Amino acid sequence: MAGIYLHIPFCRSWCSYCDFYSITENNDTEPFVQAIINEASLRAGYLDGEVAETVYFGGGTPSLLTADQVQRIIASLRENYKFSDDPEITMEINPDDISEGSFRSLADSGVNRISLGVQSWNDRRLKFLGRRHNAAQSEQALTLAFKEGFVNVSADLIYGIPGMTAEDLRADLEKTFSFPVTHISAYHLTIESGTKLGRLKKEGRLTEADEEASNTMFSLLSSLCREKGFIHYEISNFAKEGFISRHNSSYWRQIPYLGLGPSAHSFNRISRQWNVSDVKKYLRSVGSGIVPFEREELDRLTTFNEYVMTSLRTMWGIDLGYVEQYYDKELHDYLVNLSEKYIHYGLLRREKNTLALTDQGKMISDNIIAELLMEL
Ligand code: SF4
Repeated sequence: MAGIYLHIPFCRSWCSYCDFYSITENNDTEPFVQAIINEASLRAGYLDGEVAETVYFGGGTPSLLTADQVQRIIASLRENYKFSDDPEITMEINPDDISEGSFRSLADSGVNRISLGVQSWNDRRLKFLGRRHNAAQSEQALTLAFKEGFVNVSADLIYGIPGMTAEDLRADLEKTFSFPVTHISAYHLTIESGTKLGRLKKEGRLTEADEEASNTMFSLLSSLCREKGFIHYEISNFAKEGFISRHNSSYWRQIPYLGLGPSAHSFNRISRQWNVSDVKKYLRSVGSGIVPFEREELDRLTTFNEYVMTSLRTMWGIDLGYVEQYYDKELHDYLVNLSEKYIHYGLLRREKNTLALTDQGKMISDNIIAELLMEL
């Protein structure tokens, strides 16, 4: 099994918190679409015959592509890679890119899952985040998505915004629940250096949400989503039965993935590689038949640490059988011994042959994960 990620590196403008690679000055997408189709063919051997289960259009802003471009990209993937009978094909959508008929065209082009960047239902907070859309546009986009036939729809939210209260989060969630969304991704705002918010923080003009407020919001998020029938399957992700994101899950299970487009990462268990984060260089290089990337060979401990880091964030937790079989008995015993004190304090639970965070443990997941990592 494998996944394919496509990085569409164009944005109309930059949001104040975002550090993903994208450009805003040239949104001529056609040469890029040609290049990504070429890259798909140049790297046809990368997945080594593994069957692709998922495709994910991320970015940047994939909704700047036309449905025809999306359809041509999917066709080129199908020409170059083996696919399962029912692949999950997700596209991230910005609400301001949507008009009547957009979703129908996307469905016709092969997309079957939508991840809509709602982020907040409050226009003041959307402005703070530097988003171009407003709450009314999110409402219109979600309404159209369901009207035009999508069922597998995720609403993406951000909480922990400075000044935001638990009641504000409750209001955002209540509004989200008023649509039949099948998935919610809710990430705590992190302030990255190199972003507008990062600069404000450095100048002392912005203070991050404090830990207590963040923990209160996280508990509320988890309990309200569960009350509404969502499964809390990863720290920041919630799904109705049958709608867990197959693409995200493959990252957490160390399933190989191919990343196409500038800055996209690829992983095949023994190495990780990443394409150049520069659209012009990418276009030039792919145009001359060379994919511009750097590669890092992954040693056993690095992949072990990555497995601990990602799997512990999920409800399935660490599969100790997998650790013993894929890594070795020594790493298995290391985890079993180290986890004892966390189990004793009710922060981890051991069920059969797995180790997972308890609700209390999820509050301090970063600390627990850091303690369980092997020193390199
Ligand atoms: S959050 Fe999305 S739309 Fe905003 S700058 Fe980042 S990639 Fe672009």
